[in-house]
Amino acid sequence: MNIDYKLLEKLVNCISPSGSEEIVRELIKEETKAFADEAYVDTLGNLIVHKKGKGKKVMLAAHMDEIGMMVTSIDDKGYIKICSLGWNNPISLAGGRAAFANGTEGVIHWNRSLENHGNLTFEDLFIDIGTTCKEDTERKIDIGDVCILKSDFYENEKFVIGRNFDDRIGCYLLIEMLKQNIKTELDVYYAFTVQEEVGCRGGKIAAFNIAPDVGIAVDVVSTGDYPIEKGYSKDLPVKLGSGPSVRIKDGKIISDKNLNEAIINIAKKNNIKYQVDILLNAGTDAASMQQTGSGAASTCINIPTRYIHSPNEMISKRDIDETLKLLCAFLEEYNN
Ligand SMILES: [Zn+2]
Repeated sequence: MNIDYKLLEKLVNCISPSGSEEIVRELIKEETKAFADEAYVDTLGNLIVHKKGKGKKVMLAAHMDEIGMMVTSIDDKGYIKICSLGWNNPISLAGGRAAFANGTEGVIHWNRSLENHGNLTFEDLFIDIGTTCKEDTERKIDIGDVCILKSDFYENEKFVIGRNFDDRIGCYLLIEMLKQNIKTELDVYYAFTVQEEVGCRGGKIAAFNIAPDVGIAVDVVSTGDYPIEKGYSKDLPVKLGSGPSVRIKDGKIISDKNLNEAIINIAKKNNIKYQVDILLNAGTDAASMQQTGSGAASTCINIPTRYIHSPNEMISKRDIDETLKLLCAFLEEYNN
């Protein structure tokens, strides 16, 4: 299938951490408006794009937000203290570049001598935007402003690197599905959700309003195919380049068995390579859909991703293609 890497790059470059999804939402609105039967933004900020059908109500969810940081205080010398939005590894942040939506950038550094970065905490970090006093910083930055850890988008023939494929790749796939004009009887709601990284908040509100029969989150999953000695990725059989992964269980959901079976059968029938994953912790908007209102048969279709929640997440071009194929085939063929 034709993958629009320029659009993916544009999505990745939007500075939209949890609670500040406006920039990426505008881009998605623009990209999808020609393909929607109706579209609206709900009270929490989720963008819902509806393609009407007579069949079962299916909600596809991809979260627009990314992890980031929020300014908590500015000291007399103009240095900025921050807190985390979503789960950030302080080690990834240290020495990196912070970028704010207003164009301001700064160095993220630490305030004590460290023998070993292993015990670095958020408390140790500050941002230096090159100012010399509080007033100077305040001309550019307010308390409550948000920023992200900057990195450059990169692609070669096989893979792509970017800071927030979690979950801009999900957003991209949903946009691309809308553009494909898929023939389906299903009543499909494409939900671009907010505040997933801080506890799957937007997905709950979206699911309550939509009340779907079936819910599929399109998100990312860690892989176990890089050097790692301990941690939850260590024994994960998921590999980059081996196709989309269907979630069996994570910390928040045991996926609907019939739905997973239907997805896997569709993958087999269409010769789409797939994997399955079980995570001991973590969770996605699949849980929001499963456990809101009267509930929905739910699961998560994941794009294998190395180095999740670092400034350089890596995904495979082949997996993007195969995931898009599987999602489109699902809408065409799912009928139970
Ligand atoms: Zn995610």
